[in-house]
Amino acid sequence: MIEEIIKKFASDGETEQPSPWKRQPIIAGNWKMNKTNTEAEALLKELLPLVEDVKDRAVVVCPPATALTLAVKKVGPSANIGVGAQNVHWEESGAYTGELAAAMLKDIGVTYVIVGHSERREYFGDTDETVNKRAKAAVSAGIIPIICVGESLETREANAYKEFVSTQVKKAFDGMGALSAAKCVVAYEPIWAIGTGKTATFEQAQEVCEMIRATLAGLYDAEVADAIRILYGGSVKPDTIDGLMEKPDVDGALVGGASLKAQDFSRIVKFGQKKPEKAKVEKAEKKEISKTD
Ligand code: PEP
Repeated sequence: MIEEIIKKFASDGETEQPSPWKRQPIIAGNWKMNKTNTEAEALLKELLPLVEDVKDRAVVVCPPATALTLAVKKVGPSANIGVGAQNVHWEESGAYTGELAAAMLKDIGVTYVIVGHSERREYFGDTDETVNKRAKAAVSAGIIPIICVGESLETREANAYKEFVSTQVKKAFDGMGALSAAKCVVAYEPIWAIGTGKTATFEQAQEVCEMIRATLAGLYDAEVADAIRILYGGSVKPDTIDGLMEKPDVDGALVGGASLKAQDFSRIVKFGQKKPEKAKVEKAEKKEISKTD
């Protein structure tokens, strides 16, 4: 199965996966309903030089639909930077005013799409069933869906969050084959942490991401579950990314507010790299120690 999964990734033109199999981290920025094309161009102009040298991780920017074509052009044929939409309809075409089909997104060079964001579920009537249909339509068109799941504060306080999230995952993947599932990305986004400045603790994020992986292993098998990237989202900031990324089941982040600032987003993309000043101090300290030895 793992060979088939690797082959499927390669045939879809995705960055070659390292061998032995390792989940490539993804840092995705959800711009939501922000940025005119002029503003989007300015943000990308500042951001792209800061992140273009990253190699062992994927970077995704998800601007509003109006700026998708512009973003695809600005990003160019980069192996590590992709452009994502914020929603997709499941039908191929037809009388669905205001909607975008997966083939239309694919046609303009979009490679990812966020589906089931809690704001779509809350304000625009998305349900587990429509999330499932959107995810399947995206995969069929060769677009990677970033499937969002996550509980409200009420559900967390009632200690029902594991069951709630696990059900969302099962419904999102309903009727999807193993190879398609391996291409999907899941984003655990507790609603109480989105846009609130209140990040889940690293342990809380790990607990649910681990549980999501176990749910996927139950639906498919351990190999498939191990191939699926699971992101954390909810007030991720430059200060919190390193701790999150140290957790074994957190494979990246879906970033809202901080993705609108090139410096903050690029720092999140470069997780695991020490700040230059800190690295310098540590080097100097090492030198001092070796002098006294
Ligand atoms: C989001 O909307 O997906 C999100 C995580 O937002 P923020 O980072 O602003 O909490």
